[in-house]
Amino acid sequence: MDPKLIAGNWKMNGLRADAERFGAALTGHLAGKPPPCDMLICPPATLIAALGSALAGTPVALGGQDCHTGVKGAHTGDIAAPMLADLGCRFVIVGHSERRAAHRETDDDVAAKAAAARDAGLVPIVCLGETAEQRKAGDALKVVERQLGGSLPSTLEPARCVVAYEPVWAIGSGATPTVEQVAEVHAHLRARLIAGCGPAGRQVRLLYGGSVKPANAGAIVRIPAVDGLLVGGASLTADDFWAICASCA
Ligand code: PEP
Repeated sequence: MDPKLIAGNWKMNGLRADAERFGAALTGHLAGKPPPCDMLICPPATLIAALGSALAGTPVALGGQDCHTGVKGAHTGDIAAPMLADLGCRFVIVGHSERRAAHRETDDDVAAKAAAARDAGLVPIVCLGETAEQRKAGDALKVVERQLGGSLPSTLEPARCVVAYEPVWAIGSGATPTVEQVAEVHAHLRARLIAGCGPAGRQVRLLYGGSVKPANAGAIVRIPAVDGLLVGGASLTADDFWAICASCA
């Protein structure tokens, strides 16, 4: 079984001094110990180089928060997947609900970004999840199944693909689904992956994200169907991120 993957998404937060402080503190936590899990931080693009320097020599991987579908060209403000790879990133988040909502990204857009990530040698972390209204209407499984089918290009290698189940209503709200609800959605996603890719569908890592904190991380990460966590706010401080990672031990 793979170690759990704990991924931090800093969103639009942090300056260079924050990256340096975070890197020094996390390096201190890791000193002389085997890492309790696979660890990844996705800072804003402006901080990838600074955080990479601050975490040099540690096993903590770096990732981007989004990428364009193309490799270069006239796309002001966008970042291509090969540019992230060039900075040492190994992963990139695609289809986060904040981008699906604020930038109107569709499943087709997300699939094209995941394919661009793969072509650049990056592992895409494809995010999906239902809204509160969709859950209330009893449609959570139907929604995530549709997003999974539409957002994952069929050419992805299952072992080099991560899916993050992030209920929109749990992101940044302090509310979390019950253990049973997370287990149900993850089991459904796993069954769809196996139906689509055969036994290799087991190799896709399935993360849970949404209001994960040191206090609830242990209970969520111990759900057998959960291969790791995608952490927003609590990944901004090294002590909290480390406490969440340590809950995998
Ligand atoms: C996220 O945005 O991916 C996320 C999980 O945020 P938070 O942990 O702050 O809810």
